[in-house]
Amino acid sequence: MTATRIDGKAFAARLRERVGVRALEFAEAAGRKPGLAVVLVGEDPASQVYVRSKGKATLAANMESFEHRLPADTDERVLLELVERLNRDEAVDGILVQLPLPKHLDEKTIIAAIDPDKDVDGITPTNAGRLVLGMEALTSCTPLGCMLLLRDIFDDLSGLDAVVVGRSILFGKPMAQLLLAENCTVTMAHSRTRDLQGLLRRADIVVAAVGVPNLIRGDWLKPGAVVLDGGINRLDPEPGEIKGKIVGDVAYDEAEAHVRAITPVPGGVGATTIAVLLRNTLVAAYRNAGLAVPEGL
Ligand code: NAP
Repeated sequence: MTATRIDGKAFAARLRERVGVRALEFAEAAGRKPGLAVVLVGEDPASQVYVRSKGKATLAANMESFEHRLPADTDERVLLELVERLNRDEAVDGILVQLPLPKHLDEKTIIAAIDPDKDVDGITPTNAGRLVLGMEALTSCTPLGCMLLLRDIFDDLSGLDAVVVGRSILFGKPMAQLLLAENCTVTMAHSRTRDLQGLLRRADIVVAAVGVPNLIRGDWLKPGAVVLDGGINRLDPEPGEIKGKIVGDVAYDEAEAHVRAITPVPGGVGATTIAVLLRNTLVAAYRNAGLAVPEGL
């Protein structure tokens, strides 16, 4: 068996196009474009790259992009005032505070200050609670991207055995909740799990959210499983390379021979994240404007 390569890039391009069309319809109905505000504190180079690409993608999806860049030594009070201003601003539907924040700022305090109805990253305690309670929530972009990919593959996920490896607040935990909401039988594995291989051997769906290169070997997987690899790990450079390769948490070349479908790294799960952020912003815009969210987003 050779697995289908799940093309996250192509999926994201289709989602961005749908969002772009719906954003124009929203603008006609609401008399304004959907708006996404991104707040960047400090000069972390990776965060600067993310913020720039989010800004470009937002404009390309027919939305307003508001960027707020603050110096690394910004006082917590100043950042909280900005978040509160964005909460009140009717042109802003989504607020994303780029993490990590400089060490002197308390991330929990800042995150808790974001209006849950504008929390397009799905990280406020309110949205985490809404997800667990099965209420209308905004959900963290990477796990939601995984779920959208799964819905594209399966007509019905009901009764399938799913293993989520990793239990972070932004990825593993919301992923497990999303799978549970689709009636999967969900097991969460983590660094203290005793028999990861044994769990994976019976999993129809595996979501890897670990951050350990090639942790999951091909022959640990059930033949015919669907594998979503969220890991983004840079290897040490080989001789002649300036930067090491980026690989996932699953040994792709081995897994390919066993499973039905698998996401590559890069070009799989990670490629969907910004498209899902735009989708969440549009969903927030419809809800904030008191309009029905269109089907199929
Ligand atoms: P994290 O907060 O570091 O969490 C990692 C999780 O993996 C923890 O729950 C940890 O268990 C578990 N773990 C560590 N070693 C393990 C092992 N040997 N066996 C089983 N479980 C193990 O990481 P994260 O933020 O969730 O990110 C996970 C990966 O996804 C990273 O590679 C990250 O770069 C990537 N990521 C990708 C995207 C994307 O857009 N694709 C977005 C976010 C993150 P404990 O809880 O017991 O410590």
